[in-house]
Amino acid sequence: MIFALDLEGVLAPEIWPVLGAHFGVPEFSLTTRDIGDFDELMRKRVTAAARARLTLPDLQRLAHAVEPYLGAREFLGRLRTLGNVVIISDTFHEFSEPLAAKLGHASLFANRFELDTEGRITGFKLRIRGQKERIVSGFKSAGYKVAAMGDSLNDLSLLKSCDFPVLYRPVEALAREFPGETPVLNLDDALLKLEEAKRQVDENGTNGS
Ligand SMILES: [Mg+2]
Repeated sequence: MIFALDLEGVLAPEIWPVLGAHFGVPEFSLTTRDIGDFDELMRKRVTAAARARLTLPDLQRLAHAVEPYLGAREFLGRLRTLGNVVIISDTFHEFSEPLAAKLGHASLFANRFELDTEGRITGFKLRIRGQKERIVSGFKSAGYKVAAMGDSLNDLSLLKSCDFPVLYRPVEALAREFPGETPVLNLDDALLKLEEAKRQVDENGTNGS
């Protein structure tokens, strides 16, 4: 069985608003709730970074200091005894690899920046955006059952395409998409729900692990 988890808002705080508050760059603090098109949002952030003369290492100093939520590392440790755990996120590897390490070297699937020779961000490669459903269907066609957990609309395709969606403190628009699902409000309850999913898979005798 595979557990596919969102990162920001589930296992750790959002990184961009931390950068926005520290550097006083409002474009960093905008979210997909302000600008629905993630590509456009990222272009605004890259332009703002250039205008503020901030390089990737400047941003990384802050991003790498972000700590997981209390209990997130232990949560992942317990989940790993039930199956394979992957984090599928709209974050960037250059920001979040240390966070993944702090989470017990979790497997991270995320986007990448494009840089010039001076470390300035010139663009980005969105490998994850719009691909979550494909990643899940890849796992499924290899015979795995997939449980997924996310908190926001950017997790919609992940949650819709998996076998066991778990809504973690979801934004209202996401909760509306799953009228039958009771959201979970903490990682203890999330673990109970994912353990139950695993039990169901085991009982049905399908290839879950
Ligand atoms: Mg999130």
